Amino acid sequence: MYLGDCKRPPPYIPNSYSHYSMEPTHMTEKTSITTKILIAMAVGLVIGSLINAFAQDVSFIQTYLVNGLFHVVGSAFVNSLKMLVVPLVTFSLICGVCGIGDVAVLGRVGIKAFALYIITTGLAITLALAVAILVAPGEGFEQASGSVSFTPKPAPPLTDVFINIVPSNPVNAFAEGNMLQIIFFVILFAIAMLMTGDIGRQLAETAEKLNEVMMNVVTLVMDFAPIGVFFLMAKTFSLQGIGLILPMIGYFSVVILCLLLHGFGTFSLLLIFLAKLNPWIFIKKMRPAHIFAFSTASSNATIPVTLQVVEQRLGVDNSTAAFTVPLGATINMDGTAIMQGVATVFIANVYAIDLGISDYLTVVGMSILASIGTAGVPGVGLIMLAMVFNQVGLPVEGIGLILGVDRILDMVRTAVNITGDATVTCIVARSEKNLNDQIFHDPDAGVITDIELPHKDLHADV
Ligand code: ASP
Repeated sequence: MYLGDCKRPPPYIPNSYSHYSMEPTHMTEKTSITTKILIAMAVGLVIGSLINAFAQDVSFIQTYLVNGLFHVVGSAFVNSLKMLVVPLVTFSLICGVCGIGDVAVLGRVGIKAFALYIITTGLAITLALAVAILVAPGEGFEQASGSVSFTPKPAPPLTDVFINIVPSNPVNAFAEGNMLQIIFFVILFAIAMLMTGDIGRQLAETAEKLNEVMMNVVTLVMDFAPIGVFFLMAKTFSLQGIGLILPMIGYFSVVILCLLLHGFGTFSLLLIFLAKLNPWIFIKKMRPAHIFAFSTASSNATIPVTLQVVEQRLGVDNSTAAFTVPLGATINMDGTAIMQGVATVFIANVYAIDLGISDYLTVVGMSILASIGTAGVPGVGLIMLAMVFNQVGLPVEGIGLILGVDRILDMVRTAVNITGDATVTCIVARSEKNLNDQIFHDPDAGVITDIELPHKDLHADV
């Protein structure tokens, strides 16, 4: 059934997406926003680590800087990103569904994306278990179970995960930012819009205009990103400190190794074989999204940037990306699954508990379900880890041992999570002939540094 003819995105003209850009261009001398953010990130990391090392007892610094300025500006910036997510996903998804215009195609895209998300998470957890079993982190680790304590928040029962996809009150779903419920409702609504003839078509056009405006709101928020990222990094590292990693170096490095293997290895192979895309270009173009995922540790808060990168830099049509990116941010967490796999082997080794093949299979299944059932927000992976541990009979308080290094791992695994979302998006788009190779290969697509604020023009001749 063909449901409508909502406008597709404009045809590709090199640099036509430039006003959304966050990347440098060889045509401009100005520092790009991405470079500024990278510098801010590095300076924040260094200042934070210095405060952690030398000023932990200086109450003035702790009160007014770390818990004052850093906390306030950093959190306000994360809020400003989160603020974009619900309206952006709503308008963008309406455009996406209207752009597809065919329920059968929509179903096909949905099934492909869902299957790929499950498969990539399965690959991630299997890789993590294999590497962790081989390296055996935690063997001979001084077991300090008396000194650690971790009381997990209760994980939602799995049946609820599925029941709760359908919102009993959509307004509530929007108010709470419940992604799966919002996706469910918006898709139904958009299909209904397309079935409503002219009125629906007019609404679809309005949604398209609103989507464009929202994209500009994203651009405005990005202007503050260097400041926001600086304060986020400074706060995280003044609280965490690099030194925390040392006693946990075994566990930490196995998780990082697996994240890198999956992030650069598995995804690259998938891109080459399933999407016929050059993974190097992909990785380079994903940089802005990686930075945001790393500094916010939240796939959800990164959705606006992932969407922009995937559409404007990688050339995926909105009709695919609008659907697969928010879905992936919610149900696809390869990095989180990797942490859970390594953590399981690590804690089993620390407590000298033997796990059999059926336990490992349970871990694979539970990690996939955990990844579907949780939102992409900071630290959620640990809560779901408690569920995995309960299932295979590992002591949940063992999570206390890995708590100290989790924030830093959370940042890296979130970057892997969103890379998975973008990879699957490209594969689905390629199979649907919704990927523009010209944009993908154009290093300047979505490029140029200046964000033009209209009031500048208005006052130009004053
Ligand atoms: N922070 C991760 C994300 O947003 C989830 C987690 O592993 O805790 O994707």
